[in-house]
Amino acid sequence: MSDSDLKFVSSRGGAPAITVSEAIQQGLAPDGGLYLPTRMPHVDVPSFKDLKSLPEIAHAALDGFFEGDRLRPHLGAILDAAFNFEAPTTPVKGATDRLFALELFHGPTAAFKDFGARFLAESLQRLEGSATRPLTILVATSGDTGGAVAAAFHLRPWVRIVILYPKGLVSPRQEQQLTCWGDNVISLRIDGSFDDCQRLVKEAFLDVKLALKHRFSSANSINIGRLLPQMSYYVASSLEVERRTGAKASYIIPAGNLGNAFAAVWARALGFPVGRIILAHNANRTVPDYLQSGDWKPRPSVPTLASAMDVGNPSNMERLRTQYPTIEAMREQLSAVTVDDATIRARIGEDFMHYGREWCPHTATAAEVYAGLSVEERRDHPWVLVATAHPAKFNEIVEPIIGVPLAVPDSLDRLLRLPRHFVDLPPTLQAVAAALE
Ligand SMILES: *Cc1c(COP(=O)(O)O)cnc(C)c1O
Repeated sequence: MSDSDLKFVSSRGGAPAITVSEAIQQGLAPDGGLYLPTRMPHVDVPSFKDLKSLPEIAHAALDGFFEGDRLRPHLGAILDAAFNFEAPTTPVKGATDRLFALELFHGPTAAFKDFGARFLAESLQRLEGSATRPLTILVATSGDTGGAVAAAFHLRPWVRIVILYPKGLVSPRQEQQLTCWGDNVISLRIDGSFDDCQRLVKEAFLDVKLALKHRFSSANSINIGRLLPQMSYYVASSLEVERRTGAKASYIIPAGNLGNAFAAVWARALGFPVGRIILAHNANRTVPDYLQSGDWKPRPSVPTLASAMDVGNPSNMERLRTQYPTIEAMREQLSAVTVDDATIRARIGEDFMHYGREWCPHTATAAEVYAGLSVEERRDHPWVLVATAHPAKFNEIVEPIIGVPLAVPDSLDRLLRLPRHFVDLPPTLQAVAAALE
């Protein structure tokens, strides 16, 4: 590592500076903080106009973060393998000609988590593939992360995946995707909330004896290897919207742990044409309340229809607060809105009627925020709704509202036919430690 190389440091300032691949391997920093780059790399934005495919665009955007790192020579191959599906920015017809949806649900598990999970798997494959002792990746999931990580790492012999998910709080099709794997994937159904699952993962990491024994790593969005690749679709989409409309794209992002939102913030910080960023939260309103009051008050999560966003203590807030230490600075960068379940249902019905669009409950929070903008705001900027999951993952919610059956993507259909494997556990570290034996 030379002095000019980009380094990564902990948000809590108590860990040595390391390279990106070390940060990817560690997940959480040893002081309990989250890794952040010490500076933003320079990117030549005008040179992107000749780039076409998502892997190409991603390579150019991410290259600077890998300066001096041993993964850098592999970055092109990693991205070709990981991003082998599209992330189209499609016009929402019947609205203005300046409303778009960024469709992030065309991957193997039909939610945006596939981008980060697949990038992480390909990266770790190159860092860990010849290790003699397998790595254990612990994943707390509110519904979509676990499936995406399992799909990305299934049958890779150098790794064991342990999924912790909250019993009764994920959709039936999500649960199927969390439990249909077997082999090197262990699914733990925790009698608790998503926050309990997330806490158990943190406790396991900080338990030195356990951590050494199992060689823990993380695939949650605390891992920088999940966040960095997610910038790629904001880069591609913002350039496309600028090409079509001549203006910067403003994004409305369904938010939970803020990993997806953080990637948009970084894409804008790199100089790509991203305008406003609005976070759409469900009834878990910790972030909207914080932006309003200035008091950071994490709280227990409450279950909602948009379950993958049921987060009361969003982990990436620590990164955001490191990047924007004052509330005023953060308010300049972001705004946040909360949307309750009744409104989510109503929005799914309205937009199906008016635009013929089928939204999942998460995407519907973003559609609702758009509907609540003033006429001037809608006229003055092109807006992009970030469509985070395919509605067919939440068929039991969406179909009764729109009154027609949803087509199931082939990849999802295949997973729905596999048998389930899971273990029921109480929400204690002791129980998790025993299950790891
Ligand atoms: C995970 C998830 C979210 C929330 O994303 P964060 O990065 O945690 O903010 C939103 N929608 C869907 C469908 C998800 O799976």
